[in-house]
Amino acid sequence: MAKAKIAVNGYGTIGKRVADAVMAQDDMEVIGVSKTKPNYEAAVAHQKGYDIYAPAASAGAFEKAGMPVAGTIEEMVEKADLVVDCTPGGVGEENKPMYEKAGVKAIWQGGESHPLAGFSFNAASNYEGALGLTFVRVVSCNTTGLCRVIYPIDKELGVKKVRVILARRAVDPNDIKKGPINAIVPDPIKLPSHHGPDIKSVLPHINITSAAMKIPTTLMHLHTVNMEVNTDCTAEDIKKIFSSQSRIRFVGQGISSTAEIMELARDMGRPRNDMWENCIWPESITVDNNEFYFFQAIHQESITIPENVDAIRAMMELESDGAKSIEKTNKSLGF
Ligand code: NAD
Repeated sequence: MAKAKIAVNGYGTIGKRVADAVMAQDDMEVIGVSKTKPNYEAAVAHQKGYDIYAPAASAGAFEKAGMPVAGTIEEMVEKADLVVDCTPGGVGEENKPMYEKAGVKAIWQGGESHPLAGFSFNAASNYEGALGLTFVRVVSCNTTGLCRVIYPIDKELGVKKVRVILARRAVDPNDIKKGPINAIVPDPIKLPSHHGPDIKSVLPHINITSAAMKIPTTLMHLHTVNMEVNTDCTAEDIKKIFSSQSRIRFVGQGISSTAEIMELARDMGRPRNDMWENCIWPESITVDNNEFYFFQAIHQESITIPENVDAIRAMMELESDGAKSIEKTNKSLGF
């Protein structure tokens, strides 16, 4: 069978990871990536052999930098079966008319709103709902991390309510322009934060609310999750449910911080130190009647990458069974 032709529009933190993850699959391939400037990221894309597409006005600058472009972004979109839009939040929305005109399928990221695509995706929670769809939004890193734990608990025990406190990394490691560098910022001050309600775009029946703060770190987010369930359970029951999920990793053996999780990813030889799984401290799982608590760390730069691959597979109808797609993606990435 011919491989699905995937274009990556916006080759930044998420886009470059999506491109490499797609290239690791045997049922899809990257036909081009877009860059607006011939910077170091474009140079690496060029070295990796990706065809680079750029706005017509920037073609000369790319040529001068020794990386001739293969065409305009519109031309790239025309050649694709599906575009993964990884432009900054809010920019992706402006690209919708281009995708509609070209008649291509498109995936947006969590920085865009749910109504833009009309379907918000998490592989474990609603893969089958995305089969054959034209437009899908892969939810944000925090929403992905929360769906991965809420969905299986809800399936096994029934979730009555969820309360989450998120300590969010301030910026990604390469972002030199934003802070804070010496403050904890309630963000937003008006509660709830958008994270809890965003879960409802994937799991509409979940009773959830959240509060979030930005902290001076770039590595990972840390969630304190509190769930009340409808069924009696022990910490062992919760651990068993989490252990059944391939995108949940238990951390221990001296790991007591996000810094050590990133060191683990380095030691494992993961590309770009990526940690695609939710990292849960099993020791933190504490049950009090029908309520339990735990800590999980989320690597914001990489957690949504396998979900993008699965979303492509569902939309292109390359695999009708979500569990099989998850397994295939995990195996090809080297989980
Ligand atoms: P980024 O700023 O790292 O990358 C965006 C890239 O798009 C940059 O290379 C930029 O030059 C390029 N770009 C800007 N305008 C463009 C245009 N009009 N056409 C083509 N390319 C353009 O952003 P990111 O962190 O990768 O975020 C992308 C999306 O993924 C956002 O919706 C964001 O909310 C979401 N997301 C980000 C993270 C994260 O932690 N970084 C995690 C999950 C989801």
